[in-house]
Formats: sequence, structure tokens, C-alpha cells
Amino acid sequence: MSDLTKLTLTEVRAKLADKTVSAQEVTQAALDRIQATEPTVQALLSVQGEEALAQAKALDAAGPDPARPLWGVPLAIKDVLATKGVPTTCGSKILEGFKPVYDATSVARLKEAGAILIGKANMDEFAMGSTTENSAYYATRNPWDTSRVPGGSSGGSGATVAAGQCYGALGTDTGGSIRLPASFCGIVGIKPTYGRVSRFGMVAYGSSLDQIGPMTRTVEDTARILNVIAGHDERDSTSVDTPVPDYVAALAERQDLKGLTIGLPEEYWNKGLSSEVAEACTTAIRTAEDMGAKTVPLRLKLSEYAIATYYIIAVAEASSNLARFDGVRYGHRDKSAENLIDMYVKSRTQGFGEEVQRRIILGTYVLSSGYYDAYYRKAAQVRRLIRQDFEAALGQCDLIAGPVCPTTAFRVGEMTDDPLQMYLMDIFTISTNLAGLPGMSLPVGLGRDTGMPVGLQLTGRAFDEARMLQVAGLLEKAVPPTGQPVL
Ligand code: GLN
Repeated sequence: MSDLTKLTLTEVRAKLADKTVSAQEVTQAALDRIQATEPTVQALLSVQGEEALAQAKALDAAGPDPARPLWGVPLAIKDVLATKGVPTTCGSKILEGFKPVYDATSVARLKEAGAILIGKANMDEFAMGSTTENSAYYATRNPWDTSRVPGGSSGGSGATVAAGQCYGALGTDTGGSIRLPASFCGIVGIKPTYGRVSRFGMVAYGSSLDQIGPMTRTVEDTARILNVIAGHDERDSTSVDTPVPDYVAALAERQDLKGLTIGLPEEYWNKGLSSEVAEACTTAIRTAEDMGAKTVPLRLKLSEYAIATYYIIAVAEASSNLARFDGVRYGHRDKSAENLIDMYVKSRTQGFGEEVQRRIILGTYVLSSGYYDAYYRKAAQVRRLIRQDFEAALGQCDLIAGPVCPTTAFRVGEMTDDPLQMYLMDIFTISTNLAGLPGMSLPVGLGRDTGMPVGLQLTGRAFDEARMLQVAGLLEKAVPPTGQPVL
């Protein structure tokens, strides 16, 4: 890895600001790294090399701008976010060749901050999956071990950052899709509170669950991106108009964990965990205690219903959201169809992959008259109880901690024949979305058995990202370093 691509976002930003390096040098280093590693990692669906270099040249000509906090920093964007004039496929054949005419708000804000869009990251089709194997194009590999998956659905975002191809990426998280790949790839990823970041320009999966968030190599890097993308946007009516704290400044405000209470839910620290995940996460919690945190046991009694609840609500919303892909307005259209209905059916059958079709069918079923009350309405009621469960728990502690996933990254193909088994892997992450709370994954070392990264999950109170990042930032310096993969 060339030295430049080994730097963190925070480090490269400082070098760019004082002109030790130019935006063109940094961009070229990232492109070289992409060229060297992409054949094995396959993290990106498209690379905007020429545009990125042209943008870097223009930035260099104008000179560093202190008002633009990501000046000259190459970033990747999950391919579910609209990027003006740049392919946006959602990992699906149905959107092959689609180029939006506008930028998602989060992307526009990154550009205004001076960031350089270098590539669009691979993902499970329409963000449905946990391994990136559901991409209609190719499966992304985990840079730590290319026989393993990077997690999903933002697996391309996780792998591109871990592989040193760029300094950070945007992912999206409906039920864990930022936290799981962050955990599997040994990087930091945060799903902000529902409403914290505008979803304008994000292709919706489960609209009441979706959030956009940063994935980077360090907590401070994540704080820098969150500073830029957080905040109200009148084009997303679910974005909340509350002040955005300076997340980077907040990091310096805490020196230890005294006075902090961390809740440990029994349901998350049980026998279902692999021993290496339990060990790494337990060590991290002991470290937090050594730094002054108090830990308390908790119960999240409704955890056993979380998967069923999520997989009713998410598929119901998905079936409705994906109705717009009908071959008329965007992407793939079957040319042989003889009438309108035939065209819808053929275009959708050819354009959507197996998992997406499965979910559309399930979602349509749980919303259909006669079943709506038994499934969708019931799930919505249970969801409310899950939210109350979390609110009560967060009344007893400042943060909830547990693993992100029961295991480290699985082998490619290990779960593809058993969708239910794959759904079960979301057990620790999906409740955070059902409750609308912020959650993040922090790397806490490598597993003793597989040598793969382990992520600790923190879940906080609504709009309390600053505290979560502070705690993660202090723990990051104290736990065994995860380092970077050798590729
Ligand atoms: N694995 C979960 C699913 O397939 C979560 C995906 C996500 O967060 N986008 O729905």
C-alpha cells in the first residue's frame, strides 16, 4: 500500500490543508490502489477516475479552503444513493445504465465540503442482504480474507475503505447494513438516529427504517463525515430540524469514562455468540470499566420477536417502494412484451433478482387484505413495544453495548442457500432500526479463531451520537488495534 492510502481521513486532510500533498496526488494514489486491489476485492460497481482527477485539479488550482472540511478527500458512495450523471444501480439489473439527474442531499453536502467522489460501492440488490452476495453484478470479497464476505448490504463501502481505496464511504442501514460490514471489515460505521441525515436521493428500501451514515477507518474520521451530512433538509420530511453538534469537537470533550453507565443486555451476551466474538467484546467492556465506566445488566425481553417483526415491516415497505420499477420510467424494459401488464411482469421478472422477488412477494402478502391485521398491523404493534423496551433500557444506562453479529465474517457461499439462516444473523442490529435509535460498530480486535475483525455495537439515545462517538473514540485507543488488512 502506498503511504498516502494508509493514512486516515483525518491525517490526509491535514496534509491536504497544509499543502504537503495535492488533491491530485491523493486522488491518483487512491486510483492506483483501486487498480491494484479491485481485481480481488470487487468493492466498486463504477470508478469515476477521470472526473475525480479533473475535480482534484480544479481544487488544487483554487487552493485549500478551510471552509470546506473534506477538501480534496476521495470518498466512495454506496450505489443506492443518487449521484448526478454517474451510474446508480442499487446493485440491480433493473437500474443498469440509470444515471440520475441530481445528487442525493448527503452526496451534495459531501461535494460542497470539497470531497471527491471516486467510486460507487457494490451492495446487495436494493440493500437486501447481509453479505453483498445478492448484488446482481458480482460479490464483493472481504479484504482481510478474500474467501470471506465483507458483510452487507453496504459491503462494497466496507471493503473499499478497509482496502485503502478511499478514506471513507457512505453506506445505508435499514437493519444493520452499515454496522455489519463495518464489523466484518474492521472499520468504524455509524447508523445515525432516524431523521438525523436526509434520505433525499436515497433509493428507499424500508422507509421507516432507512438511514445513511459514514463508514471510515477511525472514529474521528466518522465524526468528520457526520458533521457534513447531518442536519435538516426540507426535501426529506422525515429529517429532523434539531441542531447538529460539532461531533469532532465533542471528541475532545471527554478524557475518561467516569460517570458513564453501559447496559449489557442478557439477550445479546448469551450462548449464541461464537467464543472469539464473546472474548473480544468482553475484553472491550472490561477496558471500558477500567476507564471508569459502570456496567449494568439489562433485559431486552422482546429481542426474540425482533427478526420476525423486522422481516414483516421491511418487506412490506419494500414491496411498496419497489412498485415504481415498472419498466416505464427507469432502467430495464422488456422489448418483447405485447401489452402493458405483460411488460410490467416481464421487465420486473428479468430486472429483479431472486431475493428481491422473494421480498416483494412476502411484502405484498403481509399487506394484502385479510392478512394485513394478522401480520403487518401486529408487527407494527410489536415494533412499538420494542421501542418502549429500548427507551426503558436507556433510562437505566447511557449506552447499550453488545456484539454486532454472533460470528466474524462468513465464507463466501456459506449462507446463500438458506435465507432464513442469513436473516438470523441480523439479530443484534435490527432492533436499533425498529426503535429509530443511533447505533455504531467499533473494531475491537481480531478474533482468536478466524483472525477476522470483531465489532462491538453501541446503541444510544435518540440524537445522542456525540456521546456514542466520544465513548467509541476513547475505547478505540485502548482496545487491541485491528490494523489494516494486507492485500
Ligand atoms: N440484512 C438486513 C436485510 O437484508 C438488513 C439490510 C439493510 O440494513 N439494508 O434486510
